[in-house]
Amino acid sequence: MLRAEGIIIDVPSWNDTYEPVIGLEVHAQLLTRSKAFCGCSTQFGTGPNTNVCPVCLGLPGALPVLNRKVVDFTIRMGLATRCTIAPRAIFARKNYFYPDLPKGYQISQYESPICSNGYVELESEQGRRRIGITRIHMEEDAGKSIHDADADTLVDVNRCGVPLMEIVSEPDLRSPREASLYMKKMRQLVTYLGICDGNMEEGSLRCDANVSVRRKGETTFGTKTEVKNMNSFRFVERALEYEIHRQIDLLERGEPVVQQTLLWDSTAGEVRPMRSKEEAHDYRYFPEPDLVPVMVDDPWVEEIRASLPELPDERLNRFVREYQLPQYDAGVLADEKDLADYYEQTARSLKSTNAESYKLASNWTMGDVLRVINEQQIAARDLPVSPAALAGMIDLVVDGTISSKIAKEVFDEMLRTGEGAVQVVERKGLVQMSDRTALEKIVDEVLERNRGQVEQYVSGKKQVFGFFVGEMMKATKGKANPRIVNELLQEKLGARTK
Ligand SMILES: [Zn+2]
Repeated sequence: MLRAEGIIIDVPSWNDTYEPVIGLEVHAQLLTRSKAFCGCSTQFGTGPNTNVCPVCLGLPGALPVLNRKVVDFTIRMGLATRCTIAPRAIFARKNYFYPDLPKGYQISQYESPICSNGYVELESEQGRRRIGITRIHMEEDAGKSIHDADADTLVDVNRCGVPLMEIVSEPDLRSPREASLYMKKMRQLVTYLGICDGNMEEGSLRCDANVSVRRKGETTFGTKTEVKNMNSFRFVERALEYEIHRQIDLLERGEPVVQQTLLWDSTAGEVRPMRSKEEAHDYRYFPEPDLVPVMVDDPWVEEIRASLPELPDERLNRFVREYQLPQYDAGVLADEKDLADYYEQTARSLKSTNAESYKLASNWTMGDVLRVINEQQIAARDLPVSPAALAGMIDLVVDGTISSKIAKEVFDEMLRTGEGAVQVVERKGLVQMSDRTALEKIVDEVLERNRGQVEQYVSGKKQVFGFFVGEMMKATKGKANPRIVNELLQEKLGARTK
């Protein structure tokens, strides 16, 4: 199950007559330390044109040598998406001219990709859906053109030769929502597998979409367009919504859809055609003469299979089983590996190992922890409150030392100072008041001070009960044990009602 983002898509107006047909091509930058075919660093953010050598510049006589990790990582993704792993895969040259590509070609794969015929499953608005993976292949990135304020264009070739994996889906997606869910699934898988950082803003995970529409019930495909430049999940949905409406409008007016490449413009909220010179499609692929075929034998595949981590769906199911969490909680927690790890470490650090404590840890992780990491844009593992520290605080709630209300205050203080829960509670004197006799005295005082409200209660206005609870919390600075306060108030007010 995937977490719903904070956007609500209305039921599309094309639902009755038309059906969109969408396929995605996802590019993921692989987390290797060196480039695909040379020893240059892949580090992001270094000075322009500093991570380069004769190989990635394609200087005459330089020969590429394949980075084994690139193959390992691609096979990992192939296994996670139930692909067939080819025993023999070859590289191909994709030829085109562009200023950011000094070699004049990219090394890619064409006829013999390393992985093919897999699938992933999604929970979409149409139920459980299986989306086919046509192929996954390895390739290298190109450089970057920087258009500065003047008429000049500068070129940074640091990215030339940075390894990419391209995942091509079957045209199985039937709505922008499904496309976005599929993209989330891809992000989830590559981050769980540790092969890509999944950062869409920085471009380490990006996608292009092939889109067409057809009347419901038809089995042939309509003319498709390609939409590029959608660098967030939200933009994937919005760009596809836009393009589907555009195509339907054309068909309704009796005009043809023209096959073309379109760019999503997030500022204008529309897609527009790419300049035609950016759209040269004749790549004249041919086998790369400088690289031998990649031979993948069974022991290699089995070694990688054995090293695969637990994947998101398995983890979700295990969370339900092992920690007795509701399906919903397990889905939210397992969605991102980082958060799932945080939760699991918290749960394992708890002193009390029962369903109630596990659920409490889940509430805290889905609530305050998730809120803070979203606000501060940090990873859960970088939160100043460690899983062990959170578990320590939850233990104090479970054993009655502090109330849930006080726990909020303790958590904020832990976040601010990095202290443990016990230290915070001691320093600030936040131990819960559970002494019945002491609380009884305060109840009496509260009732005495608020005779008017007592009258109201006695004459049948039972909703003022909450007012007394509030007054008790005020009087004890939130430290009163709510269960005992409730009991005492019921007792005392009940006695006066008779
Ligand atoms: Zn290099």
